[in-house]
Amino acid sequence: MAPGTTRPSDAAPARPAAAEKTAATKQQPAGGDAAAPGPSAEDRWHALARDAVLARLRASSSGLTDAEAERRLAIHGPNALPQPKSRSLLSIVLGQLTSPLIYLLLAAAVVSLVLAEYDDAGFIFLVLTINTAVGAAQEWRAEANTAALRSAITTVVRVMRNGAVRRLDSRRLVPGDVVVLEGGDRVPADLRILEAAETQADESSLTGESLPVDKVAGDALPPDTPLAERLTMLFAGSTLQRGRARAVVLSTGSRTELGVIAGALGSPAAEPPLTRRLDRFSRLLGLLSLCLVGAVVALQLGVGASLRETFFVAIALAVSVIPEGLPVAVTIALSIATRRMARRNVIVRHLPAVEGLGACTVVATDKTGTLTMNQLTARRIWLPRHGFVEVDGAGFELEGRLSQGGEALSDEAHGAARSLARSAALCNDADLDPTAGAEGRSGDTVDIAFLVLAIKTGLDTGALRKAARRIADRPFSAERKYAASLHDHGDGHLVHVKGAAEVLVPLSDAEDPDAVLGLAEDMAGRGYRVLAVATKPIGDAAGPAGPSGEACLGELRGLTLLGLVGFIDPLRPEARQAVRDCHRAGVAVKMITGDHAATALAIARELGIADRPEEVVTGREIAAAAAGLDRRIAAASVFARVEPAHKVRIVEALQQAGHLVAMTGDGVNDAPALHRADLGVAMGRDGTDAARDAADLVLADDNFASVVAGIDEGRAAYANIRKVIYLSISTGAAEAVMFVLALAFGLPLPLTAVQLLWLNLVTNGGQDVALAAEASEPGLLDRPPRSPREPLIDALLVRETLLSGAVIGLVSTAAFAWMIDRGWSTFDARNTLLFLMVAFENVHVFNCRSETRSAFRIPLSANWALVAAVVGAQAVHVGAAFTPGLCDLLGLSPLPLSEWLLLVPLALSVLIVMETDKLLRQRRAKRSAVPSPAEPGPGAATAARRSAKPGEAG
Ligand code: ADP
Ligand code: MG
Repeated sequence: MAPGTTRPSDAAPARPAAAEKTAATKQQPAGGDAAAPGPSAEDRWHALARDAVLARLRASSSGLTDAEAERRLAIHGPNALPQPKSRSLLSIVLGQLTSPLIYLLLAAAVVSLVLAEYDDAGFIFLVLTINTAVGAAQEWRAEANTAALRSAITTVVRVMRNGAVRRLDSRRLVPGDVVVLEGGDRVPADLRILEAAETQADESSLTGESLPVDKVAGDALPPDTPLAERLTMLFAGSTLQRGRARAVVLSTGSRTELGVIAGALGSPAAEPPLTRRLDRFSRLLGLLSLCLVGAVVALQLGVGASLRETFFVAIALAVSVIPEGLPVAVTIALSIATRRMARRNVIVRHLPAVEGLGACTVVATDKTGTLTMNQLTARRIWLPRHGFVEVDGAGFELEGRLSQGGEALSDEAHGAARSLARSAALCNDADLDPTAGAEGRSGDTVDIAFLVLAIKTGLDTGALRKAARRIADRPFSAERKYAASLHDHGDGHLVHVKGAAEVLVPLSDAEDPDAVLGLAEDMAGRGYRVLAVATKPIGDAAGPAGPSGEACLGELRGLTLLGLVGFIDPLRPEARQAVRDCHRAGVAVKMITGDHAATALAIARELGIADRPEEVVTGREIAAAAAGLDRRIAAASVFARVEPAHKVRIVEALQQAGHLVAMTGDGVNDAPALHRADLGVAMGRDGTDAARDAADLVLADDNFASVVAGIDEGRAAYANIRKVIYLSISTGAAEAVMFVLALAFGLPLPLTAVQLLWLNLVTNGGQDVALAAEASEPGLLDRPPRSPREPLIDALLVRETLLSGAVIGLVSTAAFAWMIDRGWSTFDARNTLLFLMVAFENVHVFNCRSETRSAFRIPLSANWALVAAVVGAQAVHVGAAFTPGLCDLLGLSPLPLSEWLLLVPLALSVLIVMETDKLLRQRRAKRSAVPSPAEPGPGAATAARRSAKPGEAG
């Protein structure tokens, strides 16, 4: 279901009755295995006590074993909703038949039949069939592509299996599984909460309630509680907005509440605006060509031509001028680009984002995980009484020694380091199974890094967590910038806290808070991410419990500061080059982070994003909303200590400054900014489901370098779309020019209706699709981005179309006139002209391969499909002249060699003219680019193209 979809909430209570019926028949597993509930009990899960739920599911709060889960998976099937049916072949074929063009052709066929012109009628039907087949095949391919993309995004959940937390594809969940969820996670199935901390869920897609709902781990609710008020349950399709929860899976797949209503809601895919714009453009051209056809008919009738012939020619002309295949060809260009992007780790969720990415002028990117590896390692600890301690090791490796000035730590210092590590390991939501490698690691990287540190100090984190039970906790949130939890240590209760130094140090008992913050600042200035760790005893040995435990966490004054920890997060190896590539491509890079300003600047310096402290804007400045903030934001390159809410402000300020903004994000709170940005880019690996749902694009590898690859492919896609348009409208223009000129000069009709249809059939089948697959031109990333306001049909495209159309039209009419003048029969002249036109259009395809580069500089090997399409068209045409029956119908006969020798140079004329035009344009661009010698030729050409004021088309 689309995230924005809402249902009226009053529908909620009505549905369970229906659900009951389906569930009762479906849930009953073969042999009464696994869950064996009484009739229609599933719908009253909320009315059972927690233990009763577990008992009925034959599950425990520590989850299932792998073997049991496998068994249940075989019974219940995968946890997935049936895929929305993609369009059937039949509906695609029928869709092809609903165009005005087809109606025209059908009318022509019927008239031919009435006039007993059976050959013509048969031929028109043949054209119809081939047109439909080619169109349907192309659309089918685009459709299959989208379906493949849909399944490329999977959801990973944290599940308890064999007593340990594992990451698992959510499709493998079964009833009885125990899952661990955090803010931003999509709820993967219908769940009953076992444990919750500050949990809120966004259920708008299910109940229509737009505010997040508080969720708790409670006991039985009254059986008639409506869906929207079942606070102990989480439902598939909703998102955990914040907090943390452990919950047991009740039902999966189509047996979830969402699954029951999903059948009623098919979300039709919205058509991309570019395609829609082109549709309008095609219609405009259609109208123009109708006028043209009208003129031709009038001229024809004026010179006394037969009504019948005029009718056929009018239809054939309309067919050649209307670029009916254009929208499909463009969709194919976009879909080819999405496939190429996917290969470079950019997954496209909304088709228009493809061309959009090519036009973006600024990328605002996360630091952690995108520019850096997100493999935090604690490397430096500061202990209040013992000073700095070094820690060995890289990444999440568990080996590493603590030392001071190269010497082993004193027992006392080691003890202090260990109690710091203990606090940080308890106030922690990650899981680390030291025996299971990467498989056994899950959770926030800061938390994992703290667990690694604890192991390095010699702690057994698993045993520690069992010994000190967690009573209450405040999970980390980006707004709060710390996490806290209350534990029962048997002999007393302790609060453990970890988080940003400038938040925690002022709350602590540190003797000289400013000096400590100075140390933290100093570490941050060297690129360390710095966190403070603190603790605090609560009450007496009996300790507080229940609600008063929560209250303790609300009042954090009087903490005992245990120390500071400095983490290194290495830069991604490709990041620096990727930033450089962006700058070369005229795309500004802005770094956004919740980290300290000094840490952020140190990393920005290393990446070449910023150099001076003035280029850093902090979240505090944004919150203060001082005058001139917009200008300050537009000029800044680094945003530090930023809260998610500020990101929207940053996007808006950049857009205000005329930028087309691509914004990356991973957190649940980034969703509004991802929506607001022109292109929302979510992290596919470590990002939350909420961010992914809000984004237009997803980076499969969370890597900034992939953004650059996406920009490259986006620009290539845009260029290819222009090439396809160029080819289709210029050949139509050429044919129009030829007919108008011929009639104006009193020549016979240059081609018969059947010939004209044939010409379009052989030259329009594969060329445009092959052009849509052109490889990206070198130097695409050396140009500035095109202006977001630049129309697709700009001055350059109009110029190219008019020039090439005029050349082909003039040369062919002149050749035709010459042949008639020399006394050739009309049949022979038309035959030769048809050969000439096929050759012309095949040569012209090579003009369309680039708008700036010489056709001779583009290797044929870069696009064999195009070569095949051209050679194929030429061969089919020559072959037709030798095919008995067909050659009579088309009025074709093989050409003698002498005529070929004349024809080939004529066909090449369009290549020569267009090459000269490219050369002249390039030279002019170079001349006008002299003041800024840094700008390369093609870039200047783009600039020149932009400075001309073209009329918007479509
Ligand atoms: P970024 O945008 O760079 O990913 P975050 O918003 O995740 O930054 O973190 C902001 C700050 O919050 C960090 O500098 C750190 O001080 C603190 N912090 C981050 N993660 C945690 C955590 N798991 N527990 C406690 N504090 C954290
Ligand atoms: Mg983070």
